[in-house]
Parts: sequence; C-alpha cells; structure tokens
Amino acid sequence: MGQKVNFLPVSSHLNWDEYFMLQAMMASFKSKDPNTKVGCVFVDDHNHQLSMGYNGQLAGIDESKIPWGNNKTVPLDQQKYAYVVHSEANAILHAKASLENSRCYVTLFPCHECAKMIATVRVKEVVFLSDKYQDTVENQIAKRIFDMSGIKYRELKLNKEIVDELYSYLTSILP
Ligand SMILES: [Zn+2]
Repeated sequence: MGQKVNFLPVSSHLNWDEYFMLQAMMASFKSKDPNTKVGCVFVDDHNHQLSMGYNGQLAGIDESKIPWGNNKTVPLDQQKYAYVVHSEANAILHAKASLENSRCYVTLFPCHECAKMIATVRVKEVVFLSDKYQDTVENQIAKRIFDMSGIKYRELKLNKEIVDELYSYLTSILP
C-alpha cells in the first residue's frame, strides 16, 4: 500500500448560504437599473439551483422606449416602476420546474407584489441580504404575507473574510 499522499485536508471557502447569496449578487450585477440592482436564486432541498433572476425591463421590447428613471414627479407611464419586472418575478416566470418548498436567496427583501408570487408558488424560506425598505408599508405587507403563508425569512450577513477572499480571487485572475 502506498502512502496516502493525495489525501489532503480540504474545506470549502463558502457555506451554502454564502454560495447562493453570491450567485444572487452576481445576478443583480447584470441589472441595468441605475439605482436599484436586485438578484435572486431559488434553490431546492438538495442545494441545486432551480431558477435565477434580476430586475429588468419587459422581455422583447425596444428598451429605448422605456424609462429607467425613478423620478415620481412625472406621470407613472414615464417612470421605470411602470415597466420593470422584479428579480423574483423574473425567476418565478422563467423557472423550468416547480419552486414548491424551495429557498429564495435575494439581495433585497421582496416587495409585497413579489411576496404574493413567492407565497403562491409555495416557497418555504426567503434569505435576504438587505432590508433597507423595512419602514415602508409595502415591506410590512410582504412580511404579513410571509407570516400568514408560513414562509420563514432571515437576514444573511456576509462576513468580511468572504468579501476579502472574493476580492483577492477576482484580482488574481486579472491579466
Ligand atoms: Zn418585487
């Protein structure tokens, strides 16, 4: 018998929560929204990704005809809010399989419209990075919807070591 020279002690840098939240962050990175970029990933019990999304404009339209600004002093038809599809809605609409009992990793706590969809497809847990709109009525409605539906929700804090490690990884692959 040879020596076990290749049996090296190894460990992953990331736990599953961190892994999927980084994926949600990467999805948000694709958004063209100049003010609020949001991304999400839906995951099953085996930690397999089911769907992914970011906030974007309606598919298949001429985007030059649609505003990206959030100035609410002009009529709604001239605001982004009339046209943008949220990340959670995009992920749910494009899912190829059922999202029942899945976990949703999202960079921003869902609005009440997305909460309705998340509850309807019977997601079991929402893990979020930011809850910056927690003082709004829409946010309270979203939490009420989750509470009534038995959907758990919890904040995830990415620790500095992960961010530092990611930063050094990204800079190491620069030419
Ligand atoms: Zn939403």
